Amino acid sequence: MTNENNTPLKVMKGGMTKAPRGKAQRADRAAGVRPEFERLRKIIYSTQTVCGICGKPVDFSIKPPHPLSPTIDHIIPLAKGGAPADLSNLQLAHRICNLQKKNKILVAEVKDEREKQISNRILPQHADWTKQS
Ligand SMILES: [Zn+2]
Repeated sequence: MTNENNTPLKVMKGGMTKAPRGKAQRADRAAGVRPEFERLRKIIYSTQTVCGICGKPVDFSIKPPHPLSPTIDHIIPLAKGGAPADLSNLQLAHRICNLQKKNKILVAEVKDEREKQISNRILPQHADWTKQS
């Protein structure tokens, strides 16, 4: 079992970030990778423009917690052993897409068949998040 929310946040090395307190960010759990993750996040934000999950453009003018705000997705989730701060395991994604994907993976783990298990990068195409505001 993974506990996505119950793990106490470790003291972050290498300085604080703007992340609001109380909101668990997965990268924070791996103490020590945070500075590297932040560095890679900046690289991705400056080099990628399209959501790696839904394939639609990401608008960097949209700020969290808007569902279409940009975020960094771990292609292989940390819970699945993915590297927390490796450029090859990180991609640009919409916040909502990242959340949807996470839900799918959790659903699959508990073998809840309300939704079919789908592959990492392919989400149902019936949801066009860019049409939402
Ligand atoms: Zn997306």
